[in-house]
Amino acid sequence: MTYALTPPLQAYLDIAGSEEKFPVRRIYCIGKNYVAHVIEMGGIVERDPPVIFMKPADAIVRNGGEIPYPVFTSNFHYECELVVALKSGGYNIPQAEASSHIYGYAVGLDMTRRDHQAAAMAGGLPWEVTKSFDHSAPVGPITPVGKTGVMSSGHVKLKVNGETKQDADISLLIWKIDEIISKLSEQHRLMPGDIIMTGTPAGVGAVVSGDVLECSVDGLEPMTVRIGGPAA
Ligand code: MN
Repeated sequence: MTYALTPPLQAYLDIAGSEEKFPVRRIYCIGKNYVAHVIEMGGIVERDPPVIFMKPADAIVRNGGEIPYPVFTSNFHYECELVVALKSGGYNIPQAEASSHIYGYAVGLDMTRRDHQAAAMAGGLPWEVTKSFDHSAPVGPITPVGKTGVMSSGHVKLKVNGETKQDADISLLIWKIDEIISKLSEQHRLMPGDIIMTGTPAGVGAVVSGDVLECSVDGLEPMTVRIGGPAA
């Protein structure tokens, strides 16, 4: 069997302390998952149902990488988030078993064309334009769960050009990690290589070309990425 075109490259993430790479299958994202962020967005804090959307795997940018300033926006926002990487999956995973599917954790950015989000929400339109574009998923090295233990707390922090913009604790997640995995698996058969962005705390804001973003979660490898010139 031969392909008519060169197949796309497998998206991957680095693994802290290892030469091996983590192949990324899908990127699931949770929205509206910290009370203070829901309020800053002018939303209503309601738990059910969880807000679930996706990004394409080839939107990954790794630590040290550059994010070209995207086309089709003039209000390009960061959202620093804890990322959970899965080593296994399935449908209808009980909450009590969810942690057994975790490979590890990383810090990530759910980069957002904020100017299109309000229109999408108001118009009942899909979110791809606001969330699922090229380079919209920077994610740092994965720290295996064997090193961190199952995580339920720890500071999540984002600095832009050295200035702290987001600073919260993952214990404030509305949907906890085991609940997220269980809920997602009601809708999708989770698989090895899936990663989940768990939602951003308050303090989101815009970035411009030249800005340097430093993201960290206690106990995990940090990530630094830079906003580059216009995407071409
Ligand atoms: Mn987000």
